[in-house]
Amino acid sequence: MASDPLRLTFVQSATRTRDLPELGPEVSFVGRSNVGKSSLINALARQRQLARVSNTPGRTQLINVFSHSDGGAVVDLPGYGYAKVPGRVRKDWPEMIEGYLLDRETLVMVFVLVDGEIGPTPLDVQMLEWLRYNDVPHTVVATKSDKVKSSKRQRRKRDLAEGCMLETGDIVWVSAAKGDGIDRLRDLVRVHLAQ
Ligand code: GDP
Repeated sequence: MASDPLRLTFVQSATRTRDLPELGPEVSFVGRSNVGKSSLINALARQRQLARVSNTPGRTQLINVFSHSDGGAVVDLPGYGYAKVPGRVRKDWPEMIEGYLLDRETLVMVFVLVDGEIGPTPLDVQMLEWLRYNDVPHTVVATKSDKVKSSKRQRRKRDLAEGCMLETGDIVWVSAAKGDGIDRLRDLVRVHLAQ
């Protein structure tokens, strides 16, 4: 049976951690632009327009905070690695995101989105190494699982996990388009927000 959607309400956008509201335990979503982050957040909440699904990746350059009706918050972090983002924004990105990931005391889990068809990219690997080095709790979510042919799926799962230096079972596979894995990810989010 499908689980209830996460009840999320947009609260605020900010560029600095100190401007963010305190809503209790927080989980964040981060990933390369176009990885499917907005689609995934919308699927978790079963709302079409909650996070913007954009044809011009890189437009969403702010930390977006959503409150969760049963407590805690979900945070949508700006996508990384989009070449057409103006230079200044690109330069500010690491500082803004690294500051958030290192300083946010209420942060309990970072979901790192990796494109299930093509990932991990070198930037994804860099992100994962940085999170590991800094001891930031994180889980890899592979997106767009529907784009991988079923005959290639086992192989792709192994390759993606290996690329992330993880075991196959460590990765949560999802498809926002088809709904696969969404219930499991919702449950994971709920477990972390209830901490
Ligand atoms: P974001 O930039 O990370 O927020 O990515 P978006 O959610 O805007 O999605 C980027 C593109 O990937 C859009 O064209 C989406 O329609 C597409 N996309 C997102 N999720 C899926 C999925 O699960 N399956 C497929 N096939 N396409 C997806």
